[in-house]
Amino acid sequence: MRIELVNLEHGRGDFAQVYQPDELNLDDERVSLCSPASISGKIRQSGMEVFINGNVDSCVQVDCDRCLRPLQLPVKSDFSLEYIPGNEYEANRTVELTESLMSVSVFDGESIDVDEIAKEQILLQVPTRSLCKEDCKGFCLTCGADRNAGECGCSVGDTDPRWAALKDLMSGKS
Ligand SMILES: [Zn+2]
Ligand SMILES: [Zn+2]
Repeated sequence: MRIELVNLEHGRGDFAQVYQPDELNLDDERVSLCSPASISGKIRQSGMEVFINGNVDSCVQVDCDRCLRPLQLPVKSDFSLEYIPGNEYEANRTVELTESLMSVSVFDGESIDVDEIAKEQILLQVPTRSLCKEDCKGFCLTCGADRNAGECGCSVGDTDPRWAALKDLMSGKS
């Protein structure tokens, strides 16, 4: 969904959108939606600038970093964004790179892409590190057993999930 600024009445408007999990491409193979994602908010235009306040609500599925078990994380976040047209940004930047410009996004001066905001705000909430539980033991590097299910009897080594995944690939397990 795009909001065309010419359609705003007195430079203001509300928006709301619900995406089914297959309707929003998160562009991140580690992450998928496990419930519909909703986004809503208010948009306000002031001169060349556009201000957006809103919130996103969804649930994402990621794999545990250690045992690769899928886990679901609720996503709920408020955001407030500021946009200026690309040419304005360039003009301001050459004069002085102010602190406030750093947090400003650039747009084409005509419309705001709500899909893009939803995607960005959801991905911002995904932790860089995700564990199914704080003390997940991951896979045994020697036999490939899930060490959460109990010790397999191999000597304890360093469990690096990348090697565990590779080991699974080579042994034909999924
Ligand atoms: Zn785990
Ligand atoms: Zn083992």
